[in-house]
Amino acid sequence: MDLKDHIRGIPDFPKPGILFYDISTLLREADAWQVAMGRMARAVRAYMPDLVAGMESRGFLVAAPLALKLGCGFIMIRKRGKLPGDTIGYNYALEYGEDRVEIQADAVQPGQRVVVVDDLLATGGTMAAGIALLRQVGAVVPAAATLIELAALNGRAKLDVPCEALVTYA
Ligand code: IMP
Repeated sequence: MDLKDHIRGIPDFPKPGILFYDISTLLREADAWQVAMGRMARAVRAYMPDLVAGMESRGFLVAAPLALKLGCGFIMIRKRGKLPGDTIGYNYALEYGEDRVEIQADAVQPGQRVVVVDDLLATGGTMAAGIALLRQVGAVVPAAATLIELAALNGRAKLDVPCEALVTYA
C-alpha cells in the first residue's frame, strides 16, 4: 500500500504559500491507519525503547498507538503550561520568535530509552527540541520517528539520532 494515496496536501494552509500535509484522511481509513502503524512499529522496535514520547498534538496520534503496539509506555511533550505538576521546559527558535515545549519532571527514569515521535518532520526544530528535553530529564534517545518527512527542508540534519520516516516528500 502506498500511504501517500491516503495523505492529502492542502495548499495555502495555515498561510498562503504553505502546502499542508493532512493526515486526517489516513487516520479515518482503518486499513491505511493499521498499515501505517504496523510499519511504524516494525521500524521503531529495533531501537528497543522503554517509552515512546509524542510531540503535541498530532505526534500523540502516532506515538500512543505505537507505544501500545510495542508494549511501551507513552509520555507527552506538550506546549507550555499544559502539564500538571513539576515540569521542565526547553525553549527553541522558530522562524519568527520562540516556542517552548515541556515535559513532566518525573516522566522518565534516568537511562530509559525513549523514541520521540511526531506526525511530520519539516525543519526539524520541533523534533530536536523534543530530543533535547528528553535528555534533560535523563533519557537516552536512540531514534526519532515520523509518519512524514519533508526532505527538502533537511530536518534530519538537525537531529543527532537516526530518524525513521514512513513517507517522504521531496
Ligand atoms: P518543524 O519543527 O519545522 O520540523 O515542523 C514540524 C512540526 O510542525 C510538527 O509538529 C508538525 O505537526 C508541524 N507541521 C509542519 N508542517 C506540517 C504539515 O504540512 N502538516 C502537518 N503538520 C505540519
